[in-house]
Amino acid sequence: MISGRFAPSPTGDLHLGNLRTAVAARMSARRNGDGRFIVRFEDLDRVTSSRELAARQTADLAAIGVVSDEEPVFQSDRFDLYHDAIGSLIDRGLTYTCFCSRREVREASQAPHGAPHEYTGTCRNLTTAERAARAAERPGALRLDSRAAGFDGVMIEFTDAIHGRQSGPIDDLVLRRNDGVPSYNVAVVVDDAAQGITEVLRGDDLLTITPSQIALQRLFGLPTPSYVHVPLVMGDDGERLAKRNGARSLSELVASGSSADEIRARLESEVSGFLPL
Ligand code: GLU
Repeated sequence: MISGRFAPSPTGDLHLGNLRTAVAARMSARRNGDGRFIVRFEDLDRVTSSRELAARQTADLAAIGVVSDEEPVFQSDRFDLYHDAIGSLIDRGLTYTCFCSRREVREASQAPHGAPHEYTGTCRNLTTAERAARAAERPGALRLDSRAAGFDGVMIEFTDAIHGRQSGPIDDLVLRRNDGVPSYNVAVVVDDAAQGITEVLRGDDLLTITPSQIALQRLFGLPTPSYVHVPLVMGDDGERLAKRNGARSLSELVASGSSADEIRARLESEVSGFLPL
């Protein structure tokens, strides 16, 4: 039986693109008639996320027929699990502290702006004295030492149901941010396994980080689910949908004349067009 999920971050109202991904995740999980489908709130960042927004997202999802089979979990309630997983990598000597700012990471990188796999490992090679000097300035983030973990030069392959055979390198992922918060990559991998998820359906902006997430699954001894990376809805300007290029929430769409049922029907028909059901 398929176990699928939709995992929004409750940082604002869901827009049409998020809603389409949610519809796709439910339709795909149920494609054999008996699937399990759950919603999980990825609210690691307690500054930008809130329970009120999660409640609004739940109501909007329900209005277009996307209802979790189980009481949704909140990642902010599960930090202990993520810290335990990170601790297991620390114990095995597979991590290092990184003091680079976002700007330093960007400037050191050869990759085009915003591309993943961009950390060049500057802080992996700090001497003990350099490390102590940087630590005195500000707290560091904890990264995966992909080289120590045996992934140097290794390409991880997987098959995506829409994009086909994929292969990519492993990044020195941030495991714990410099404010002590576990990273998205750790939480998503731990939770998908803890919740018995067999199919990860999400936006295709996450396609290139997937090899690194699979590397984490292997290091934690967790199973790898199947992957379906769906196209993002684009805005008026051809860029991914956001507030500035026309993203509307369900209530804004309803206020401009479409009923929730019409929106649901439209999204289900779009999803049927690209989902290999
Ligand atoms: N929380 C992530 C987002 O809202 C989704 C992550 C995932 O589905 O793996 O973009």
